[in-house]
Amino acid sequence: MSPILAARQTEKLAILGGPKCVPLEEPDLFAWPIVISEDEQAVLEVLRAGKMSGWDITMQFEAEFAKWQGTKFALGHCNGTSALLAAMFGVGVGRGDEIICPSLTYWASALPAFSLGASVVFADIDPDSLCIDPADIEHRISPRTRAIVVVHYCGHPCDMDPIMAIAARHGLKIIEDVSHAHGALYKGRKCGSLGHVGAMSMMAGKSFPIGEGGMLCTDDRTIYERAVAFGHYERTGGAITLPELKPFVGLPMGGYKFRMNQTCAAMGRVQLKHYDARVAEIQRAMNRFWDLLEGVPGLRPHRPAAGTGSTMGGWYNPLGHYVPEELAGLPVEKFLDAVTAEGGRCGRGCNFPLHLHPVLNTADAFRDGTPTRIAFAGRDLRQPAGSLPVSEALAGRAFGIPWFKHDRPASIERYAAAFAKVATQAGKLAV
Ligand SMILES: *Cc1c(COP(=O)(O)O)cnc(C)c1O
Repeated sequence: MSPILAARQTEKLAILGGPKCVPLEEPDLFAWPIVISEDEQAVLEVLRAGKMSGWDITMQFEAEFAKWQGTKFALGHCNGTSALLAAMFGVGVGRGDEIICPSLTYWASALPAFSLGASVVFADIDPDSLCIDPADIEHRISPRTRAIVVVHYCGHPCDMDPIMAIAARHGLKIIEDVSHAHGALYKGRKCGSLGHVGAMSMMAGKSFPIGEGGMLCTDDRTIYERAVAFGHYERTGGAITLPELKPFVGLPMGGYKFRMNQTCAAMGRVQLKHYDARVAEIQRAMNRFWDLLEGVPGLRPHRPAAGTGSTMGGWYNPLGHYVPEELAGLPVEKFLDAVTAEGGRCGRGCNFPLHLHPVLNTADAFRDGTPTRIAFAGRDLRQPAGSLPVSEALAGRAFGIPWFKHDRPASIERYAAAFAKVATQAGKLAV
């Protein structure tokens, strides 16, 4: 442990009246997105030219993004939800189909399937990566399964090799939800270019922030053209070559319009220029934080092991693993209250498991006379409490850590000290 951290361990906890580890908040350490005059200029140009609804700048952004992502095609969307819906349509998800998806994710990884007449089966997560557990997928595959949506959760890459092997064995398509993991690497390869299609949010809070926006990336011309045909009717003329889509050029199959606002595309072009450098700094800062906490009881990093070629990208919504057994059984809520009292930034951080929500159990969204999830699958595939134990237990075993945007060693050390001090003295609070 660093001498500064060590010195703080014996001080009285702030929640018990002692001095704070972080006496002064440093908001600029966390501010996101980083908007500089180059972004402002680019957005102003779009506004002044009245080009908000065009797609010339969006197509430039797409070409640049595809190059960065390492895929043949990139297609801009108005948000991540629409990019995920288009990806599902792109791989052919349709009426009566099933997708498999982790329960622990934002709803847009799964619920767009309903718009296509398809239903959802949830798989559990791996307790270390918090991503879909490759060992919990295969027994959930049915004759109706068409696709698996995998989520690189809070930046951690999914274990893609076994997942792609499962897809190949069963003839399934893999959709990567990259909304948390822009630029993250899996064994040296970029997340979003590993499955059959990648789809991602670029809303203002995500690690690649352009306002409200989304992107679909693929090497597969059929998936790309189907996505264009689905939500980009004015672009179909140029992009569509497949004979099965040609007759429908001019109107969107399915009736959606997913065009990206060009103020967002213009900001995206600027963000992309700076993204790798910003991510490199975030990675240095976040790894510094966790390296400082090495050996502190009860707190473990949520990051891939060093030396594997896998990285966390921009560390969106970073988490730690909480091990109450090593902390005198102190519940995570009480731990977080004490860290907050030290001036540390923390939070609960993880999503509520989707399979327990009423929308997946009782909602009859389209007046079928039975819950949508059952109506679309033709069988009751609901998953009761207790069925996905790792996902359900996570709330008590994870915590949000500060999302540093700058690598300032002295500041990071103060934040790390807040977590270490409370963990070291957990026994005093666990009564
Ligand atoms: C944010 C998010 C989305 C949805 O993106 P929007 O841009 O908000 O529509 C989808 N999946 C995950 C995992 C997300 O975190």
